[in-house]
Amino acid sequence: MILIVGAGLAGLSTAYHLRGPVYRLYEKEKEAGGLCRSYQKDGFTFDFTGHLLHFRQPVIKELVEGLMAGKLDRHGRRSYISSHRTYTEYPFQVNTYGLPPEVVRDCLMGFIATLAPSTTSVPSGDRSFKQWILENLGEGIAKHFMVPFNEKLWQVSLEELTSDWVSWLVPKPDVKDVVNGALGIKDKAFGYNPSWRLAQRIACACLRTDLWL
Ligand SMILES: Cc1cc2nc3c(=O)[nH]c(=O)nc-3n(C[C@H](O)[C@H](O)[C@H](O)COP(=O)(O)OP(=O)(O)OC[C@H]3O[C@@H](n4cnc5c(N)ncnc54)[C@H](O)[C@@H]3O)c2cc1C
Repeated sequence: MILIVGAGLAGLSTAYHLRGPVYRLYEKEKEAGGLCRSYQKDGFTFDFTGHLLHFRQPVIKELVEGLMAGKLDRHGRRSYISSHRTYTEYPFQVNTYGLPPEVVRDCLMGFIATLAPSTTSVPSGDRSFKQWILENLGEGIAKHFMVPFNEKLWQVSLEELTSDWVSWLVPKPDVKDVVNGALGIKDKAFGYNPSWRLAQRIACACLRTDLWL
């Protein structure tokens, strides 16, 4: 007999993958879910905290979509950046159309300069986030969005941040995408989250598990 203590995501997942009556799952609260629970108050539902699941592995996406069948709504991203007294769509690097012409010019010229072969001797894994931005998106996009936005978000100088995490989170467009974005031509979605699925209600009960309270 395997004893699992705690019916948070880790305990529920362990129980699910054991797939049989070879375990007992103990939970001290009245319901399963741990930090992923929601509660009702005055007719409103409050989540303990919002949770994003990034499905980098198709097998996990299929698992969650199967478990939550009929309980997930699909949404498209509609996010905008307030910049230079206008709104431009996210991600900035492929949506400079509508910004002042000199800003668009800075962004285009800076990006084009990144296409030249790199002269840095710093190994790619050792580059700071700021270096990554300058090398991959250019000085204009760095100055007009990426550096001020990310320093506000992370609250540190981007020279203090590594760049090994950015490859799948920060879209690296090709030159056609950047030019299209400057001209207002939209022919594809960008980023890791152009659409997402939202749980109508966190439904831990749909995880196939035996739960002893
Ligand atoms: C603010 C915030 C935002 C987050 N956002 C994300 C996100 O966007 N995406 C993401 O993937 N993760 C996110 N996380 C992390 C995620 O919540 C946790 O990694 C995950 O919930 C941990 O699951 P767990 O089962 O290890 O622990 P928990 O969810 O803490 O579950 C532990 C369970 O054990 C029970 N327990 C404890 N002691 C006992 C005992 N002695 N006997 C019986 N039961 C016991 C508890 O009651 C609880 O139900 C976030 C966390 C926080 C705090």
